[in-house]
Amino acid sequence: MTKSRRVLSLFNTLTRRVEPVLPVKEGYISFYTCGPTVYNYAHIGNLRTFLFQDLLKRVFRAAAYTVTHCMNITDVEDKIIRDSQGGLPADATNEARHEAMRALTERFTAIFLEDLETLRIQKADHLPKATEYIPGMIRLVQELETKHLAYERDGSVYYRISGLPAYGCLAHLDREGMQAGASVDADEYERDSVTDFVLWKAAKPGEPWWDSPWGPGRPGWHIECSAMGMELLGDRVDIHSGGVDLIFPHHENEIAQSDGCLGHRWVNHWVHGEFLMVEGQKMAKSAGNFFTLRDLVEKGVDPLALRYTIQSNHYRKVLNFSFEGLRAAENSLKRIRVFRKRMEGEGQPGSGPWKEGLEPLTRLEQARNAFWNALADDLNTPEALAELFTLISDLNAQDDHVALTREERDAVLAFLDEADAIFAAWPHEAEATLDAEVEALIEARRAAKAAKNWPEADRVRDRLKELGIVLEDRKDGTTGWRRG
Ligand code: AMP
Ligand code: ZN
Repeated sequence: MTKSRRVLSLFNTLTRRVEPVLPVKEGYISFYTCGPTVYNYAHIGNLRTFLFQDLLKRVFRAAAYTVTHCMNITDVEDKIIRDSQGGLPADATNEARHEAMRALTERFTAIFLEDLETLRIQKADHLPKATEYIPGMIRLVQELETKHLAYERDGSVYYRISGLPAYGCLAHLDREGMQAGASVDADEYERDSVTDFVLWKAAKPGEPWWDSPWGPGRPGWHIECSAMGMELLGDRVDIHSGGVDLIFPHHENEIAQSDGCLGHRWVNHWVHGEFLMVEGQKMAKSAGNFFTLRDLVEKGVDPLALRYTIQSNHYRKVLNFSFEGLRAAENSLKRIRVFRKRMEGEGQPGSGPWKEGLEPLTRLEQARNAFWNALADDLNTPEALAELFTLISDLNAQDDHVALTREERDAVLAFLDEADAIFAAWPHEAEATLDAEVEALIEARRAAKAAKNWPEADRVRDRLKELGIVLEDRKDGTTGWRRG
């Protein structure tokens, strides 16, 4: 199948509109995503954001763009310091403090990368650790001082928001409400306390520090992303992304730092993913209502079912996490895998045309276009998948009657692979074979029951039991199943 470079549109938080992504360099996308703060396990809310970004990247790649992706690792930050320094004596050396911080962050960075692999999230091209980019952060703060956008107070440096008329453009803040001259040292704060924010923090007793022109200290969280992003992706970035909670203050402050330093817009397209919720509340470590990927795997959840659940919902809609949702995803994946297996095999001679004029290759091209149009329109994954499932129903029905030719089957397989390069959830060879056997047995049991052939129905049920399959008779008369 020919690959054409489609124009893809995404909602831009800056303009509040769905806009085409027109890269600075034709055919090339520079993509920055705020990475994890590595002081603990990522929860599946965090992973929802990383999954949506993976899908976004894969869609651009599948549409023939070259994507350079930079995801930072935040390995120095308030919570990391809080959790890593507890066991040290008050007079511990700075080296010992750094060592304790590193021990914690290296452990959770490795765990995070394993989680990405489990979920088939492609690794970023650049994975910079904040602690390895301190000199660039210091240079950036100095440049902001030169431009009168930053000032020092007691060894800390703050951004002067009144110096940048555009401050508030991303979060659409009301400039009236801003508190000129007041300053805040914390990295995270609420929208109603818009103040000058910290760029460099003077060292407090008990904290690791670096030398700087302002004395010992450490970077603020916001400056980390601006410095790493500008150093690795340059002065003009096509897409920058995070969860919606990062719009303010984190991304607003990144814009202030980078646009303020460059004198022009640093990022063209700001793309934010909605939250994963649990019972109407944001999944968060602080709320204690979270699952890690490992929690789910221990409960027997297929990580690809989690991937699928998340990706089958639109990234700008809040998603309520539930185990029923995962179950439904497992069934959808089974359907695709079984269909794939069927297309790999040879068709049986059928019994006449099912639908006048249904020409499999034409139907396939239609579905493929609709699939791509949905993705090109602000990553409409639910619609893209609906197109795929309608195609599967149509072709299953057709194949029941007039078997698709080898050429047609191969074209269908190529499309399934093209779609899987984006969704990365269905080639599961061994399982697909088992799934196909289970589906055939369920069909045989249904037929035996319909024919009142009870011994046969019992034999099939026993075979399913041997395979560890639990049947679930549904209200609509169909039978679902899962591994017991
Ligand atoms: P953190 O490790 O806290 O810096 O967060 C990593 C990413 O997860 C950020 O892009 C956050 O916006 C995102 N995030 C945090 N909580 C959730 C949630 N409940 N649902 C979706 N994304 C989240
Ligand atoms: Zn960031």
